[in-house]
Amino acid sequence: MSKDKIAILVADSTPPDVEHIRSNLGSSDDISFDIDTAETGQDALSKASDSDFDVLILGQDLPGYSGIKTLQEISRKKLGVQVILIVAEGDEKLGVKAMDRGATDYLTREEIKTDALNRAVRRALQRKKLEGEIRESLRKMEMLAIRDGLTGLYNHRYFREVLRTEFRKYKRHMQPLSCIMIDLDYFKAINDNYGHQYGDFVLAQSAQILRRLVRDTDTVARYGGEEFIIILPSTDLQGAFILAERIRKVFVNNRFARDGISETVTVSSGISSTTDVNVASDNDLIANADKALYRAKWRGRNNVCYFEELNADDALNLKEEVGKLEDFYSRFENISEHIKESCIESAHDILCQIEQGWDYFNAHSVRVSGYATKMARALSLSAEDVKVLKRAALLHDIGMVGVKSRILRKKERLTEKEYNLVKRHSTIGVRMMERTKLFQKELPIILHHHERFDGSGYPHGLEGERIPLGARILSIADAYDAMRTATDYRKASSAKESMAELRECAGTQFDPELVSTFVKVIENSR
Ligand code: GH3
Ligand code: MG
Ligand code: MG
Repeated sequence: MSKDKIAILVADSTPPDVEHIRSNLGSSDDISFDIDTAETGQDALSKASDSDFDVLILGQDLPGYSGIKTLQEISRKKLGVQVILIVAEGDEKLGVKAMDRGATDYLTREEIKTDALNRAVRRALQRKKLEGEIRESLRKMEMLAIRDGLTGLYNHRYFREVLRTEFRKYKRHMQPLSCIMIDLDYFKAINDNYGHQYGDFVLAQSAQILRRLVRDTDTVARYGGEEFIIILPSTDLQGAFILAERIRKVFVNNRFARDGISETVTVSSGISSTTDVNVASDNDLIANADKALYRAKWRGRNNVCYFEELNADDALNLKEEVGKLEDFYSRFENISEHIKESCIESAHDILCQIEQGWDYFNAHSVRVSGYATKMARALSLSAEDVKVLKRAALLHDIGMVGVKSRILRKKERLTEKEYNLVKRHSTIGVRMMERTKLFQKELPIILHHHERFDGSGYPHGLEGERIPLGARILSIADAYDAMRTATDYRKASSAKESMAELRECAGTQFDPELVSTFVKVIENSR
């Protein structure tokens, strides 16, 4: 085992007997001493500044700087070396004064020849260690107070401080100051589809990308949830725009890969600059970036917008245009509903041609969507959410087409290996439908309809309310219909038996509150 090497500097007027001191300090299994000497106070000071000494044994009557004066300089420069002052016999008062000024201890000339020196040095080493630990804790506390724990970026509070300082500098020097506010697009869907842990991973990685792309003088902070902000001192609008575009492109080409998941996440950015027409304070800078970001989202995301652009778009704020646009959106909404319905019908038509016996899945999906819709209404979900759930139910099993026909048509009970292949259908279904970009809200429900309330389901083992509500409803409707339908190796259960089974599995497989609602819905409709 290597020993701890302790560096000791001895500065004394009478040439110190290093060998004597060394033998006096002794040695132990874990410590050895490295002793250097200095002849004057200034010499001791410069050696202590240049190298990392642990302990300085310092004589009072040195040529040049006295011991006390040297000690004062060491304290002022915060050199961190522990000082033991050697005083003349009967001059203990001076020793006490030295301790007031930062010395660890004092010894008389007689004492340094005894074991007292050994004890003083060990005490000094302990104090040095303690001081180091305190310094480290303080550093950590400071870090925690200004850093965000997840991403390691500066936090919101610290960001506000930096912005205030930079804004003052801008006022003094009139060098432009710009801000980029960045928001991850559709991040909620990332959490919904892959869970919060993967979401956190995406946030941490995003922070690293941003850090890599900015200059040393820029400040990147986590503004909130999945929003970041960059402060760019001495940077005009154009410079900020170039950086924001570079960031946008890096995100487009990046994949966040972990645990077999590999997703792309795009970003939208809003830019503001002190050259904007209305900027009088640092708050205006934030407000402008926020408005620009909102417009970037409005334009369809994966977009950069700067505040000055908004003025050019002002015409859109006139009442008449807004009225016409709203009219357009509501009519278009209807059309897109139709498109989605036709898309689902076409999907089933195609699947009937591809897979013999697909009628079975089709009929099952229609029944499940009937149950799920009734449930959604009973739970007073919004009209939009009811439609989303209905569509998700119609699509929930389409991934079955990715399972071998032999397994789908098998008349006997499936083996474990075969069942594992069947389990892939929720993920396959999402892959099949995500290409259309029409079913963003339905996809998490399809993906998670086989999760179990106790966390033992698939594909992600989500637990409790982390499973999207739609998926929790769908899983009950799905199971109920499966029980009510006869298969080659099992006869159909009655409604009463099926509901008893749902109740039996409430809390483990199913959300217990939703089971109660489902039972009421079925009983009322009979
Ligand atoms: P948009 O494109 O409009 O920005 O859509 P969005 O889904 O990103 O927007 P929204 O603001 O609705 O959702 C932000 C989500 O970010 C909601 C929240 O659950 C998630 N989020 C916020 N902070 C964290 C976090 O620390 N970790 C994880 N995993 N998710 C977070
Ligand atoms: Mg977002
Ligand atoms: Mg957001």
